[in-house]
Order: sequence, then structure tokens, then C-alpha cells
Amino acid sequence: MAQILDGKALAAKVKQEIAGKISGLKDKPGLAVILVGEDPASKVYVGLKEKDSGEIGYYSEVHKLPESTSQDDLLNLIDSLNENDKINGLLVQLPLPKHLNTDIVINSINPVKDVDGITYFNAGKLFSGKPFFIPCTPKGIMMLIESTGEKMEGKNAVVVGRSNIVGKPMAILLMQRNATVTVCHSKTKNIEQITGQADVLVAAVGKYRFIKGNMVKNGAIVIDVGTNKDEDGKLKGDVDFEAVKEKASFITPVPGGVGPMTRAMLMQNTYEAYIYQKGLQQG
Ligand code: NAP
Repeated sequence: MAQILDGKALAAKVKQEIAGKISGLKDKPGLAVILVGEDPASKVYVGLKEKDSGEIGYYSEVHKLPESTSQDDLLNLIDSLNENDKINGLLVQLPLPKHLNTDIVINSINPVKDVDGITYFNAGKLFSGKPFFIPCTPKGIMMLIESTGEKMEGKNAVVVGRSNIVGKPMAILLMQRNATVTVCHSKTKNIEQITGQADVLVAAVGKYRFIKGNMVKNGAIVIDVGTNKDEDGKLKGDVDFEAVKEKASFITPVPGGVGPMTRAMLMQNTYEAYIYQKGLQQG
């Protein structure tokens, strides 16, 4: 029976530590979030980011723009936040409405304020083994994996999913820890044979109960990134939790696993952005 990796508790600890570090500071780290349009899930995520910033004691700005916002207006707002000394971290909530060019918008964020770690600059730094800002979800997953006390060196790690924001950076981070990494995607054949070899299995697919008990090796560390809804509209992961927890050594629940760690890493990256921009040493 697996030990549950409690992302909620670990995230609370991370946030508490940051709150302690900034409590004596006169100028607080500042995070700005831009939301374009009315996507319901995006509104929830932006609300949670605002709440986390408030709880930790950050200066926070949320810019809510109408769906019809032009690219020029959005880029002008990003420019002004790039120049604003009160803002250390800046993110644009994705997805953007279709008439906006996501690549151009994202890459107009100053890389030293790109706390989501998704500009080409930060992706390139990670790829080159010299990470600056690491995307929040894989960064949080590495912290969860480290909390098991297991070393990654020489382990077989399998990442299912190859998105720029989760799968690819996850694979790079595991490789940098000297794991032997296999990445699976929608064109992978005999996926259960590959996942069945994994000492560490990260599922970032977006399909409810995609990873079943027979796809998991005994004793594996299983990380469930998926956020899906079941038949009753409840939040569920990609992993068949009940079946897989009987075989895994460690497993993350959904909710309460990767999600809270992603949020905590946004706070951590914003703190790191503040320290970097002020020319301070991390305490
Ligand atoms: P994404 O961009 O949709 O990528 C999904 C990946 O899964 C793709 O690489 C796709 O392969 C692969 N895939 C789809 N069907 C597959 C199949 N049948 N077999 C093998 N691979 C398959 O999604 P994402 O942004 O990475 O997110 C993945 C999930 O994590 C979603 O549920 C998302 O909501 C969730 N998420 C959660 C958090 C959090 O903080 N908890 C953060 C980010 C994302 P192809 O590349 O071949 O299409």
C-alpha cells in the first residue's frame, strides 16, 4: 500500500517559509496576473493565485481584460508591467482567446519576470542545463519526488505527456537528476509495457483513469498531474488511484497532490524573481 505524497501539506510549508522570509521586508515581492476573457477555469486559477499572493504577503495586481482585447493593447500592458518596479513576477493566464498570438504574447514578458518559466529564454536555459525559472508544475513535482527521500540516479523514469509546460520540462529535470527517461505520447505503441518498467511514473495526459493498475510496476513512485472531471463532476487525476495505490510505493492524490505544489512554486518563483531583481542573496 502506497504512502500518500501530501502536496497540500508540503505546499503550505513552502508558503509558510516564504512568508517568514519576507515578513521583515519593507518592499514586498509583487506578482501581476493578466486574464483575458471569461474562461471559467482560468478565472478560478487566477482567483487562487490572487489568494495565495494575499496570504503570503505579496503585492498583487490582477488585470482582467475583455475577450475582445487587441494584441497591441495586451502587449502595451505587458510592456508597462515589465517596466514596473513593484512587479517582480508577471504571468499571462493561458489559454488566450484565438485572435491573440500566444507565442508573441508570452515572449514579450521580460524573462527575469517570467515566473511561469515559459518564455523561449527560460525554456532554453532549462534545456541547456542552466535553469533560471523552471515551470511551476514540474518544479513542484521534483520537490514532491525529493520528499520521498529516493534518489533519481539510475532510476527508470517514464513521463506520459510531452507538453511544453509539463511533460517536456519534467523529462529534462528527471534527466538532470540522472534518471533514464522515456517520454510517451499519443502515438506511443504498447504504452503499458513502457509504464510497467517505470520506477518513477509521471502522468500528464488529461484523461481520467488513463493509468490503470496493470500499467504500474510494484514499488513505483506515481505522480498524477491530470485534472479531469468524473461522471459526477468531481476533480480526478489521470491515475486509477484505488488500483494503483495497492502497487505503488508513493502516490500523489488528486486533489491535494500536484495542484497545490504548482501554486506554491509560483510563489517560490516570484520570491526568486524578487531576490534576483533586487540583487539580494537567497535567505
Ligand atoms: P496537453 O498539452 O493536452 O498534453 C497532453 C499530453 O498527453 C500530450 O503530449 C499528448 O500526446 C498526451 N496524450 C494524449 N492522449 C494520450 C494517449 N492516449 N496516450 C499517451 N499520451 C497521450 O496537457 P498538459 O497541459 O500537459 O496537461 C496534462 C494534464 O495535466 C491536464 O489534465 C491538465 O489539466 C493537467 N495539469 C495540471 C496541473 C496542475 O497543477 N495540477 C498543471 C498543468 C496541467 P501528443 O503530444 O501526442 O498529443
